[in-house]
Amino acid sequence: MALDPAIEVLDRRFYGLVIHNAHIEHLWTGARWAEGPVYVPSSQQLIFSDIPNDRTLRYDERTGRVDVFEEPAFNANGHCLDLQGRIVTAEHRGRAVTRIDHDGIRRVLAERYENKRLNSPNDVIVKSDSSIWFSDPTYGIDSDYEGDAAESEIGGSYVYRLDPDGTLDLMISDMVRPNGLAFSPDESTLYVADTGVSHVGAACPPDIRAYEVSADGRALTGAHSTFATCTAGVFDGFRVDEDGNIWTSAGDGVHCFADDGVLIGKIRIPEVVANVEFGGLKRNRLYVCATTGLYSTYLNTRAAR
Ligand code: MG
Repeated sequence: MALDPAIEVLDRRFYGLVIHNAHIEHLWTGARWAEGPVYVPSSQQLIFSDIPNDRTLRYDERTGRVDVFEEPAFNANGHCLDLQGRIVTAEHRGRAVTRIDHDGIRRVLAERYENKRLNSPNDVIVKSDSSIWFSDPTYGIDSDYEGDAAESEIGGSYVYRLDPDGTLDLMISDMVRPNGLAFSPDESTLYVADTGVSHVGAACPPDIRAYEVSADGRALTGAHSTFATCTAGVFDGFRVDEDGNIWTSAGDGVHCFADDGVLIGKIRIPEVVANVEFGGLKRNRLYVCATTGLYSTYLNTRAAR
């Protein structure tokens, strides 16, 4: 028994999270830029985006096949499930957050803030109170590559909270290009990555910030800190496991941080990683969207919740 050579242990805590005879599997290739994975347990499928090709793909865990889920797909990026198991999507070209209802119809949940169009929602998560939190950087309007080029109407890249009653509130306005986001298992902390290095260079370190969530869970207190700074490329999307470890994308693979902010291990992937997701019926399979390819491995931990 030996660890896959792509697994790098930087802190002994990481030994307890990996499996000593599990491989890193390269499942599929063929995307231009793979991102935005969500696992759908009822169909044992991983839905993920191929943004420049304007399509959403699905990997079927039972057959191992990948085929097209939606095309065209409003240059969809991030996905998540809501508490009813419906797919919620952050759309670049749609410039909206949408949901596929159980009748199969796409419904727009948010597309304007103070009557101005959103930029291009990037990543989206759902909290246990059914509120939807999403980031809105400009990557889908910066050029025609991942959406339709346009000027920002809002004039900034923010993080929003959509209340179940339809109210859209601005939560974070002091980041350059907020991107991936996730809550800690107890939802007392909101983690948000800033990929603003793409627009302002070293003036925006590639950080994940930790924001304190208010006691009622509906707002941020204003207190925040730098949780981690990326040492290879940028953090884009990430997920949190049941113990609060953060599994995040990076330029050389997946980086795992304990909840104290220590980088405890890496899973090296031969392509730049954009996003990860926990799947499998036990939620112990880590899926990795990495540029052209989809990868996975099994872990000795599982998704939070
Ligand atoms: Mg992203």
